[in-house]
Amino acid sequence: MGCSPLAGDRYTEADVALLAEQIRAERQQSGQGPYGVHRYKGYRGLAELPWFEIDPTGSLRCVDESVPIAIDMHCHFGMSVLFKPELALDARTDRVRHLLDCDGTNPGCDLDLDIYVNGNFTDAALAELRRGTVEQGLWGSASARTQTIPNLLGEMDAMRVGKAVILPIAFNFPFGDDLTESWHQAIEVTQTRSRFIAGASVHPNDDQAVERLESFAKAGARVLKLHPTVQAFYPDEDRVMRIYEAAERLGIIIFFHGGRAGIEPESRHAYAMPRHYEGAFANFPNLPFVVGHAGARDADAMLEIAMRHENVWLGIHGQGVTQLDRMIRRTGGERMLFGTDWPFYHLGATLAKVLIVTSGVGGERNAIRQAILRGNAERLLA
Ligand SMILES: [Zn+2]
Repeated sequence: MGCSPLAGDRYTEADVALLAEQIRAERQQSGQGPYGVHRYKGYRGLAELPWFEIDPTGSLRCVDESVPIAIDMHCHFGMSVLFKPELALDARTDRVRHLLDCDGTNPGCDLDLDIYVNGNFTDAALAELRRGTVEQGLWGSASARTQTIPNLLGEMDAMRVGKAVILPIAFNFPFGDDLTESWHQAIEVTQTRSRFIAGASVHPNDDQAVERLESFAKAGARVLKLHPTVQAFYPDEDRVMRIYEAAERLGIIIFFHGGRAGIEPESRHAYAMPRHYEGAFANFPNLPFVVGHAGARDADAMLEIAMRHENVWLGIHGQGVTQLDRMIRRTGGERMLFGTDWPFYHLGATLAKVLIVTSGVGGERNAIRQAILRGNAERLLA
C-alpha cells in the first residue's frame, strides 16, 4: 500500500475522491453563488465592503455600529511549547502577522470569501505555513511573536468582537506541553478575563486525561478542544468515551476540529471524516459538541449529521459565503457559531462573510446575524 492513506472502512477511495472533487468544484464555482464575486486584496481590501474602513493607523476597522458585538468561539494565541522562556504573550507589536499573512504585501494577497478559506494559501505560502507551524509549535516563530494578547485585543476592538474563547491543544509531547496552563496563566497575568474564556485540551493517549480535565474544570474551563487529525484519534473510539463522560459530568463543552481541511498530511485524513464523529454525538445526547470549521471541506456531510443531533453546534470558521448561505437555509441560523481561527486569519475575514450573508434587503436576516455573532454562543455558554 506504500503511502496510501486508505484505512479500510475508515477511509475509502470514495472519501479520497470526494475531497478532490470538493476542492475542484468550489474553485470552479467561486463567484457564481447568490452573492457573486467576493475577492479582495488582503484583509485591508475588505474596506471596500460597506461595514469597514481603513482607520488613520492603516488598520481595518468595522465602523457599522449596528453590527452586534460578537463572541468569537474559536481563537488561539501564538504558540511555543519547547523552549522557555515562552513567547511574551503580553507584548504589543506594530502589526499582527497572521499565518495567512494577507496584509504582509502591498497590495495584499488574493482573498476569496467564496471558497474554503485555506484555499487562499498559495503553494509557496502553504509550504511556509507547514514550516512555520512546526517552528511556531516548538520554539516560537517571528510571526508567533506578534500573536499576542494585546494584539488580539486590538483586533477584537477594531472588529467589534467583545469576547473570545481561547483554544489550546494538548500534543502529549514526551517533554510535557502545557498550553492549557500557560494560556490560562497569561489571561490571569494580563487581567483580561473579561475578554477571554480560557479553553482546555487533553490528549486521548494521556492516561491522566480525565484527572487533568477535572483540574481544568476546577480552574474554570468551560470548553475542551479535541483535534482528531493533530491528536490522531477517531472521535468514536472507545478510549475517548471516558473523556466525553467526564466532560458531561463536569459541564464542559467539547470543541472538535471537524472535517478535512485538505492541507493536513493525508495519513491523518481518515480521523476527520464526518461519519466518525456521529458515534460520539449519538452516545452523549446531553453533551454539547461544537464542530469547528463546520466540517471544513466535508461541510455538506457534517451539516446533515448536525441536523440529526440537537447537541451539535456548527463553528462556521472557514466556510465561504455560498456554503454559509446553504447552512443558514438548512438550519435557520440555529446552532451556528461565529469563530475566526485567529491567528491563522484576521478576525475580519469571517466577520465580513457573516455580514455579507445576513445583509438581505429588508433586514430579514438581522435576527440570524445576531444569533450567529452572539446569541447562539450566549445560549451555549449560559
Ligand atoms: Zn483553530
